[in-house]
Amino acid sequence: MFKCSRCGNKDPRYIGYKNEQPYCRRCIIFSGSGAKENDGKTYQSKLELHYELSSEQTEASNRILSAIRNGRDVLINAVCGAGKTELVFAVIKEALIKGRQVGFAIPRRDVVIEIHKRLKNVFPRNKIIAVYGGNNEELQGEVVVLTSHQLYRYESYFDLLIMDETDAFPFHGNPVLEAMFKRSCRGNYVMMSATLTETQIKKFASSGGEIISLDRRYHGYPLPVPDVILLLGILKHFFLIRKLRSFLAENKPVFVFAPTIDKCEDLSVFVTKWVRGGTYVHSKRLDRQEVIKDFRKGKYKYLVTTAVLERGVTVKNLQVVVFECDHEIYSASSLIQIAGRVGRKKDAPQGEVIFLSDRKTRAMEEAIYHIRAKNKSMPNVL
Ligand SMILES: [Zn+2]
Repeated sequence: MFKCSRCGNKDPRYIGYKNEQPYCRRCIIFSGSGAKENDGKTYQSKLELHYELSSEQTEASNRILSAIRNGRDVLINAVCGAGKTELVFAVIKEALIKGRQVGFAIPRRDVVIEIHKRLKNVFPRNKIIAVYGGNNEELQGEVVVLTSHQLYRYESYFDLLIMDETDAFPFHGNPVLEAMFKRSCRGNYVMMSATLTETQIKKFASSGGEIISLDRRYHGYPLPVPDVILLLGILKHFFLIRKLRSFLAENKPVFVFAPTIDKCEDLSVFVTKWVRGGTYVHSKRLDRQEVIKDFRKGKYKYLVTTAVLERGVTVKNLQVVVFECDHEIYSASSLIQIAGRVGRKKDAPQGEVIFLSDRKTRAMEEAIYHIRAKNKSMPNVL
């Protein structure tokens, strides 16, 4: 019987035939050149980190090191802003010194670009490359930061594979991508997420891996609990304008989340008429990296955005409004992620998260319940 060597599929419904040769229809889109073994290893590494890890981060980082040394996989369950990325710096450094091949996979391209930049800064002596759709000429580096879609190029390749945001679309519940992940890892992996389900945790525990939970933000402050503002129709627009003005008067940058691309553009047209200094971003806006850069520099004071900025982007003193929060696109876990954008910096650890909506949905209630529960479980809140 035919079994796909790329994704492991053997379901006859997804097997096609060409010239009487079977091929897999499930992963046919994943074709392109594969990466050759990297022979440019330096067997050295310098970790340049200009700030200290918290005691929780240091402890977690040490546990990851010892688990990987003992050949065990690791699952990190950490709240947004717990500083997950820093937790793997030490284990990456050790792998580089041993000449091991390191991969860092993330479902979203925007986050790949962010992490690539960060890793280049902290490991200045090593070759760190980014691989994603439209940027895949060079496939070999000492650390390959890539979208999960690009994993198919790396068969049995990584001695240490880190996967962030495993719960994010499009990785979550996608058997082809999950199979590609396992196929490209020949050593051990570290999976990270902020919104794991009980089932995912139990499944991993039964496979003998190491589970590390980090319920506290690295700066010790609690997660901001969203305020729910219920207003009908156009009243939401006027509330938003008043709120934006008061945030901007205090020099606070703002993300306004809108549920769809069309609504994002419409809302941006409306709001920018009343409040200057804003623009919009969504996945179809091609210069969005530029826009985000300009926003960081302060050229824009607020951004109307879709879920494209739900993860990965850290902005000091950011405030967040979720417009039409009752829209079906918002699940509890995406609302938790969005709320987690706020208060990520040590010198600005708090801020406002506003769910602006016609009505209260189950997802909103669950998100708030989850955030409150996490805050309660945190020891020594400042
Ligand atoms: Zn396949």
